[in-house]
Amino acid sequence: MEDALQVYTGADLIRDGGKFATFAPPARLSVFGDPVAHSKSPGFQNAALQAAGIDAQYIRLHVKPEELGEALRALPKAGFLGTNVTIPHKGGALANVDEADDYARKSGAVNTVRVEGDRLIGFNTDGPGLARAVQEEFDVDLRDLRVLVLGAGGGAGRAIAVHCALTGCARLVLANRTFAKAQALADELQSSFSAAHADRLVAIPHEFSALGKQLAQTDIVINASSAGMKPTDPPILPTSLLNSDLLVYDAVYGAEKSRLIENAEAVGARSANGLSMLLHQGALAFEIWFNQPAPVEAMRAALLSA
Ligand code: NAP
Repeated sequence: MEDALQVYTGADLIRDGGKFATFAPPARLSVFGDPVAHSKSPGFQNAALQAAGIDAQYIRLHVKPEELGEALRALPKAGFLGTNVTIPHKGGALANVDEADDYARKSGAVNTVRVEGDRLIGFNTDGPGLARAVQEEFDVDLRDLRVLVLGAGGGAGRAIAVHCALTGCARLVLANRTFAKAQALADELQSSFSAAHADRLVAIPHEFSALGKQLAQTDIVINASSAGMKPTDPPILPTSLLNSDLLVYDAVYGAEKSRLIENAEAVGARSANGLSMLLHQGALAFEIWFNQPAPVEAMRAALLSA
């Protein structure tokens, strides 16, 4: 196995992709990002490959935006089965695949690519991964819930909102600091909600008065905004707007508890952070590449020990 923290480049893949097949075990999967050194995916995807007895390894590839198309096209020749794609390439990857699933097309982003011959098939497992995480953390089906998504105009928020709309959640409120993005997404998703139930889909600005009104009709708050980790960040939702009946899922993950999770705990609401979403979006990617169940517990153990 190559050094787990080693970072290869898009240029390596484009100019000398054949070398990856000579690694022991051969590199057949990767994550493309810029930057990419921080990615937790190699740790838990390599644990999955080992647990499943698959003779392959998963590497980091630092791919610059101008290299993205060529690097993706180099994957089949280099013997790759697929790749994950992270910031800032999720939108660009959609433009460079031959085909994409509904979640990827509607959310405008691809986070997983499967190589099929010379063709590249794009998927987005962030929304389905979040749904599995919610089931696991709270023992509820997202489709049965009235959902409020904070940061609905960002990449993760959009993927989550699209998943909720396509799978038919009970109610969906899209909140975003830049209101126009939430409204534009609501317009795109309107066809998933029947005209007779137009009030099941609402767009609001990320303002406490508007949020307060919607929280009275909400079962789960999902934070997909990037605010709230730094002590200097404004609170995303103050305790005065939260109550003990709410479920709170913070897609943000890190060693420290976010202020949102602290606020949820302070009012007695059940809460969870984004590690489980990270785990399950990765497990779904594994299933897309190998068409077999992912060894989730081995992946979880690797993620928790990282
Ligand atoms: P992004 O595309 O840059 O979107 C950021 C979102 O946060 C936008 O909606 C933005 O609103 C909003 N925002 C930023 N600052 C804000 C503030 N001060 N107040 C209110 N809203 C604010 O980022 P992303 O890729 O979606 O990632 C968002 C978060 O989700 C990150 O923390 C990331 O680590 C996490 N994430 C987790 C997973 C997982 O597997 N757990 C997967 C993906 C992402 P505007 O539109 O107004 O700018």
